[in-house]
Amino acid sequence: MTTYSFSQVSTYLQCPRKYQFSYLDRLKVKEFETSYELLLWSLIHQTLERWYQQIFPQDSFLFPPKVPTFSETLDYYTHHREKLLRESWVIRETADYLPEDIYHRGEQYLRNYLSQHADFSSFSSLETEKMMLFTLPNGQSFKGIIDRLDILKDGTLIINDYKTGKKLPTASDTSYINQLSLYAYALRQQYGAETTIKARLYYLHFGLQDEWEIQDDFLNALVAEYESYTSEIELTRTSYLQTKTLLPTKENAFCSYCEYQSSCPLWKWSYNSDFSADEQVVLPLIDEYSSLTKQIWTHKKQLEYHKNLLIDYMHSQQLSSFVSGDIILKLSKRTGIDFPDIPRLEAFLHEHLLREQGSSVTRFKVASLIREGKLDPKDCRDILENNPYPSLTPANNKRKPTEE
Ligand code: SF4
Repeated sequence: MTTYSFSQVSTYLQCPRKYQFSYLDRLKVKEFETSYELLLWSLIHQTLERWYQQIFPQDSFLFPPKVPTFSETLDYYTHHREKLLRESWVIRETADYLPEDIYHRGEQYLRNYLSQHADFSSFSSLETEKMMLFTLPNGQSFKGIIDRLDILKDGTLIINDYKTGKKLPTASDTSYINQLSLYAYALRQQYGAETTIKARLYYLHFGLQDEWEIQDDFLNALVAEYESYTSEIELTRTSYLQTKTLLPTKENAFCSYCEYQSSCPLWKWSYNSDFSADEQVVLPLIDEYSSLTKQIWTHKKQLEYHKNLLIDYMHSQQLSSFVSGDIILKLSKRTGIDFPDIPRLEAFLHEHLLREQGSSVTRFKVASLIREGKLDPKDCRDILENNPYPSLTPANNKRKPTEE
């Protein structure tokens, strides 16, 4: 019997072929590759685990409780940083920041978190890195890890989870909520069906926390959803093991980070150097296509530059058309939505969890949010303006000046 985890289910939902490579074929990835972001995640979890273990020790006779100072905590963080770096992991470099930036970020996260959570009067921490192993009603086993489990004075349990990412989840991304809520199903089996359970997510990069009580209706629906996922995966596994029919590929936003790209039919072009005769005919087209695309972009930029100069001139002369020999340029005005105050727009999107951290907000991004139905222009009426957008159209000049 398979024991499922959230990462197994989400891998399957993200791309069945990736699930096949990872969990059925158990393909070996050449080197274990990590990134500084992952190291930071690991360091913060270890440091906070140790912090709470010292404040709420399992054996208070042998280890009397103590609240470590910030400087002691930072020493631990630095010591573990060196240890992790010494281990022979391959670290994926990134052009966006230096390793020192990442570590300073971690220090800042700890400084903020420790100063905001220095009051221990209302709760006890029961366990850190608590391994959960439970069975869904359909008999499928499931496992996961709770970063920290607390209990309040009134017996309410709090499932705590730390996030170190620089992006907040969008309103439609409920994976974190689902994951923590499903643990409540297991905790109820351990602590009783009437236990009040809350979940708390700490977004350390933003100094934000999100807390909710896990309600019965929601939990029942969630359990049913995961029963359905695990049943489907179980059927797929059995069928694959018997028939070896390959699971389908599903291209997605994470393909660029997929460790199985070199085995994936969608990406074989980037790894193959032994091309068939047909492929050798097609390959030069890729370079040509890329070169043409670049040319189009260059021309587009030039076109925009010329257009703006001409429109400025026609406005200054109050002209609605402009003739040069056989060509007549016609100036017309359309109106479109504009957001003149970008910082206000950024704050608005941030508040509505639609702001992607690290990327700038542009009119095109806002337009795509509106198109995708994630943003209703009515909700941001106060910060948008209807502005005229001039357009300049060239046409053949049929009315030529009469010759003397
Ligand atoms: S590269 Fe993309 S499509 Fe291919 S296996 Fe990985 S996730 Fe699936």
